[in-house]
Amino acid sequence: MLGGVAVRYSLVLMGIQWGMAKENTHVRTLKLKLSVVAEDKKAVWKRIYQITSDAWKAANWIASGQYLNDQMIRRVYARRKIDPTNMESVQKVEEEFATFFGTKRQATTERDIKQEFPDLPSCVTNSLNQVVVASYGKEKRDMLAGTRSLRSYRQGMPVQTSKASIEFSVVDGEHVVTWKLGGHGDKAEHITFRVYYGRDKANFRLIVQRILDGEQDYDYSAPTIQLKDRDLFLLLPVREPNQDRKLNPDLSVGVDLGVVCPAYVAASEGTARRPIGFEDDLLKTRMQMQWRHRRLQASVVSARGGHGRERKTRAMERVKEAERNFVHSYNHMISKRVVEFAVQQAAGTIKMEMLEGFGEEESQAFILRNWSYFELQRLIKEKALREGIKVVLVDPFHTSQTCSQCGNYTEGQRPEQAKFLCAACGADLNADYNAALNIARSSRVVTKKEECEYHKLKQRSGHDGDQTYAAGPTAEG
Ligand SMILES: [Zn+2]
Repeated sequence: MLGGVAVRYSLVLMGIQWGMAKENTHVRTLKLKLSVVAEDKKAVWKRIYQITSDAWKAANWIASGQYLNDQMIRRVYARRKIDPTNMESVQKVEEEFATFFGTKRQATTERDIKQEFPDLPSCVTNSLNQVVVASYGKEKRDMLAGTRSLRSYRQGMPVQTSKASIEFSVVDGEHVVTWKLGGHGDKAEHITFRVYYGRDKANFRLIVQRILDGEQDYDYSAPTIQLKDRDLFLLLPVREPNQDRKLNPDLSVGVDLGVVCPAYVAASEGTARRPIGFEDDLLKTRMQMQWRHRRLQASVVSARGGHGRERKTRAMERVKEAERNFVHSYNHMISKRVVEFAVQQAAGTIKMEMLEGFGEEESQAFILRNWSYFELQRLIKEKALREGIKVVLVDPFHTSQTCSQCGNYTEGQRPEQAKFLCAACGADLNADYNAALNIARSSRVVTKKEECEYHKLKQRSGHDGDQTYAAGPTAEG
């Protein structure tokens, strides 16, 4: 769930700032760890806590204000039997509202937010309002139809700030970020941070240096500041050029996501293939955490109030958080290996199955259960784009029940989960390899669920089809 919300959230951000993607570039979000540079660090931290806390309250306040307005106006239309497509009647209602509220009903203005949250700097209110209103607009139809509830923003969410409020500089050879919170002259309010790169495996220092050098191909937008536990981060979506590689446009790599093996990759031609993420120790850690989580849950249920229960609930939250972090870094590792394999093969395209859960009607519970798969696909896509590799989704129809050697399709060709045995040609294959090869060679590229034979079939008969991932590892215990 956390992952899902974060994804949609950052997509909204990028959409606002960039519109359509430019050719041959991609967006990568740098996560820069900041440390406060100040004489009175305590006062600065107090201010940061205040801003981040006000920002999430303001986000909820803006969103619920929008919702309330829309509900009200709908009732007015309904009661007066006004056709919402009749511009003249609509305008009349709008004017009435304007006299009543002193403002047009759609606009939650800067002034309203300023009044409610006077300590929030304007570099935050402007961008925050924009983002919250935009994501409200996207979900509005479903909310008014009653099929989803109002999005709730949580404490610890990244705080929007304007691009102009973030300034990079170099002081004593170190990268420094100045957050300009507004005000003029003597009243100007600045917070200064040093960027801490740590081991810098992703080479963030180099990218920041390129931004500092004003390299034209590197630009950032929609920065956010995130306070997580006691760490402070600057999240910076940077548009950078794709790697210029010689890739074979006719060669694809198929990725099969599954239970037995987290990912299996195979090239559409030749024999290159590889299971990814088979490291037993990692899976074992995950299993242990899940088991511990369940045991804790059981003990929480049996506890009767008092400090014991509170302590255990906190302990459980920590285990859950640890597991989410674990799955996240695990997905990072798997996606990295998948893309490395494609780069080694010089494949022009990576193909994956379209997962369920993209449709509007898919339940939150389903997405919650399967977020780790969505995240994995998203990470593969992100990393592939950086290498200039295209990513497409294919119809999952029959991918695991068809023989990759002779094309024969019969149900029950998988006597065991891990094995594929062809009833026609007798091919005896690793089931994941067989599926990955079928995916790599598939020409049934789809962009939405409705185009998939697999989903059509499932809708008609409630048949469970080929997919194996629905029962796979999930983040929730
Ligand atoms: Zn066969």
